[in-house]
Amino acid sequence: MTRPIARLSDEEIVLYNCRHSRELTSAAPCRTGTASFGKGICFVLRTHTCGELRAGHAGQTVTLAGWVDKYRDHAGLVFVDLRDRYGKTQVKFSLADNSEAQEFARGLRYEDVIQVTGTVVERPADMHNPKISTGEIELKATELRILNKSKTPPFEPDTTALPNEELRLKHRFLDLRRPALQESIILRHRLTKIVRDYFDENNFLEIETPILGRSTPEGARDYLVPSRVNPGTFYALPQSPQLYKQILMVAGFDRYVQIARCFRDEDLRADRQPEFTQIDVEMAFVTREDILRTIDGLIARLVKDLQGKEMKLPLPRYSHAEVMERFGTDKPDLRFGMELKDVADIASGCGFGVFKSTIEKGGRVRGLKVDQAAEKYSRKNIDELTEFVKNYGAQGLAFFRVKSATELDSPIAKFFSTDDQSKLISRLEAKAGDLLFFVADTPKVTSAALAALRNRLAKELKLYDPSEINVAWVLDFPMYAWNDEEQRWEAEHHPFCQPVEEDIPLFDTDPGKIRAQSYDLVCNGYEAASGSVRIYDPAVQQRVFNFIGITPEDAETRFGFLLEALRFGAPPHAGIALGLDRWVMMFGGSDNIRDVIAFPKTQKASDLLTGAPAEVDAKQLHDLQIKVDLPAK
Ligand code: ASP
Repeated sequence: MTRPIARLSDEEIVLYNCRHSRELTSAAPCRTGTASFGKGICFVLRTHTCGELRAGHAGQTVTLAGWVDKYRDHAGLVFVDLRDRYGKTQVKFSLADNSEAQEFARGLRYEDVIQVTGTVVERPADMHNPKISTGEIELKATELRILNKSKTPPFEPDTTALPNEELRLKHRFLDLRRPALQESIILRHRLTKIVRDYFDENNFLEIETPILGRSTPEGARDYLVPSRVNPGTFYALPQSPQLYKQILMVAGFDRYVQIARCFRDEDLRADRQPEFTQIDVEMAFVTREDILRTIDGLIARLVKDLQGKEMKLPLPRYSHAEVMERFGTDKPDLRFGMELKDVADIASGCGFGVFKSTIEKGGRVRGLKVDQAAEKYSRKNIDELTEFVKNYGAQGLAFFRVKSATELDSPIAKFFSTDDQSKLISRLEAKAGDLLFFVADTPKVTSAALAALRNRLAKELKLYDPSEINVAWVLDFPMYAWNDEEQRWEAEHHPFCQPVEEDIPLFDTDPGKIRAQSYDLVCNGYEAASGSVRIYDPAVQQRVFNFIGITPEDAETRFGFLLEALRFGAPPHAGIALGLDRWVMMFGGSDNIRDVIAFPKTQKASDLLTGAPAEVDAKQLHDLQIKVDLPAK
């Protein structure tokens, strides 16, 4: 009996299980009503979960099933930590309780799947394990059934030294067993459920819209699907349900919501995936105010149900112009201050050529103050920051250490009179020990560079609590942006946004100044939702299409069905979409979007688990009448 057992062979397991099949196929005793299993459901293979047993269960005979998380063999005793998605339970096999089961338990290895029946025993008080929910007890095993054995896993789910992500994505079924990922997928479920409940309670209907449809103009590249029945034609996977949801408003479903999958063929960044999920909302007979209040309510509900905190409503609102001025970005992280300040008046009269000439050329000089950081950043650190802002187009980064209320210290301080130095200090509301940074460039570059610098400094200096959810609205985006490359105006959001009424005359004079009745929700520096009041008058819609270079013929071909719907009594309507993946990331405190999606894709848009995208059979291509003509490898 004390022969050391290596990993069990299939034959051994079959023989052993056969001998014990009568006792172990069904769990004993069968009961109902456990908290984690759901009420009234009785299960055959286990009586409890691995996260459920407490001191109060001591003396009961129970059956657990799960994966071998850890195993230890101590002269005559085998300890196995059994894991399922609810937690871990320590199981003890001893010679005295069942010598054959103990012998077999010695052959268990990581990730084998077993079923164990035994008696719950309370551990002595000083042996409680506070790290696990079942730490008060252990299970004294009397029976063991090996349900399946596992190959040696390339990494163990409870490892702290995570292997590279590629290996984890390839073995996603193991990666998903990691408690952190399990929590994240469970959080995603809970968040989605709260969203559905909230909208249901407010009379919204969840309506599915097609995946195989027509191209929608969200500005990204479409994923196309060839039609076999109509050779030479293609469906586009939805970049969003935008057009369908507007048509649902025309159809009279005045409150629509959908947890909608969207597809955009873009170059991927850390927080993007080619397919992602939106909480897609549209309402009829509403104004912007109604949408903002509806979403305020949703956010407050999520914060309450997921974090137990009260969110102060209404959520703060800023205009686009204001956040661009104060933070340099339309998605400011508002968990910390460090606002940008304009010093054009001081720069234009100073002796520092770079500042002066920038203002003369119509550029801007703006800066920010970092509280008490003068000694925290060495010259070498500042050189790194200078390289960093160059990524955002800046030519350089001027810096000053504040010595007193009137004196600056910097290699360029000599170009600033005492008066200018005091003025800079008071404009930035600085005091001795603070560090000031300035960028002199075009308005766009000063915004981009300082906004990025602001985020980086706040992260380095830990200026915010990473668990805080800080949400605010950004309103009145410009309707159009000038595309220099293509020499034309294009819609900032999408071409269905209603312009602000009083700005409509600007179409003929200063289109860049037209504001859209659009809104973004920003959360911790991310764009977490985006939407607008829609155009519901076909003539205005046609005018907007014309303006951005979509000819009437083009509009008719691409969006004729929408224009036609608008001609049949379209109610005023407005909507919004919230990025579900991002909200899960923010509530879960993760900065990797792949952590909140069960089967995500890599930066190269491939699924390492299944190998998608993959080549297809010649026959499939033939049926689709498609020829693939690739350059020779
Ligand atoms: N369809 C828009 C988007 O995906 C959201 C909206 O305007 O409702 O960005």
